[in-house]
Amino acid sequence: MHKPTPQWQMDTLLTHAGRKGKAHSGPVNPPVIRASTMLFPNVAALNKASGTRGIYGRHGNETTHALEHALCAAEGAAACLLTPSGLSAITTTLLALLQPGDHLLMVDTTYDPTRLFCEGMLKQIGVSTTYYDPLIGAGISALMQPNTKVVFVESPGSLTFEVQDIPAIAKIAHAQGALVVSDSTWATPIGWSSFELGIDVSLHAATKYIVGHSDALMGIILTTAALAERLRCTYKQLGLTISGDDAALALRGLRTLSARLAMHRSSAHQIATWLKAQPEIAEVLYPPMEGSAGHAIWKRDFRPEYACGLMGAVFRADISEEQVAALIDRTELFGIGFSWGGFESLILPTAPRHCRSINAEHWQAPMMRLHVGLEGVQDLISDLECGFDVLRTMQVKQATMTMPINTTSHKTAA
Ligand SMILES: *Cc1c(COP(=O)(O)O)cnc(C)c1O
Repeated sequence: MHKPTPQWQMDTLLTHAGRKGKAHSGPVNPPVIRASTMLFPNVAALNKASGTRGIYGRHGNETTHALEHALCAAEGAAACLLTPSGLSAITTTLLALLQPGDHLLMVDTTYDPTRLFCEGMLKQIGVSTTYYDPLIGAGISALMQPNTKVVFVESPGSLTFEVQDIPAIAKIAHAQGALVVSDSTWATPIGWSSFELGIDVSLHAATKYIVGHSDALMGIILTTAALAERLRCTYKQLGLTISGDDAALALRGLRTLSARLAMHRSSAHQIATWLKAQPEIAEVLYPPMEGSAGHAIWKRDFRPEYACGLMGAVFRADISEEQVAALIDRTELFGIGFSWGGFESLILPTAPRHCRSINAEHWQAPMMRLHVGLEGVQDLISDLECGFDVLRTMQVKQATMTMPINTTSHKTAA
């Protein structure tokens, strides 16, 4: 395997990591291996191979190993485990690092299925969870218990995009012997130096930008040498694996990750700026945009050139959910669907107040989440304009409907 050179630029690293280098002849990409059984010519060869990786399909193959190598190089990790979904990367890691009687500090703005796992299986096995404010920073020290083993971060937060002060949190967690686990899906492996910020295990829904084409689900666990065996042990016991076909799709996606992010980011900036100028919008939640909440910490901790295309928008309180639904329905280029990170634009109404323990009351106004895809940005803006036109027509209708009542009351008063 090619040894990535430290001074390579990220774009170079993404095109060369996990490949065999100049001496290699034959196809550029590794073969797409489909395998359960691996054969051995004789018992001696079987005995020699036992205990090593690659003696059975579940242990991976040339395709999955090339992807692991490339991902380790991209994020600067020592070890990589590939799981069938982003959620399984999260649950496997928490199961590996927490035991009955342990305590978990979970960011309140976490991806909702992560919260369901804490309230379900983790509670069942005797792990307690406290949810904390994403903006807590060094204040996390007040919540640390003697049995706190993991502090889980997700920055920017799901749906509301708060940016966490991860170095401050990691410093306190480490001083008290706890590990920092991060859902790094928004950052992608190239959007920040996760391990330098103090993260011990960096998790990704590769389903999003790494696969990048909305055609496969996958999770990634990236970690340090110190934790690799502990995580691998749980991963093996749970019987997790991914297919060679999916590994090839993710590897293909990874090769163009920085190029795609450059366009997602540039279009997202334009759309965030445009949205902010619409009178019906109270706030745009896009930390890479100057003036957006969390921008200062984002600028300090993230690589600005690899921001992604996911953002939120909060409507004025007098806009109704029906109006937002009409706006969303009217768009042609923005698909209505879960997930993000593919080549295509997506839009969804959101209501974070339903999945929060802290500050739920802050999020009362209607909201939407946009994933800005790789379409032409002018077309996307025109599409949103059509949506806002529908919303405004409804606003005018509502205003005219209330008018006669006002007139009547005025007459009565007179
Ligand atoms: C989508 C997502 C996940 C889960 O990924 P799946 O592959 O759908 O299981 C986890 N965390 C975040 C932040 C996500 O957006």
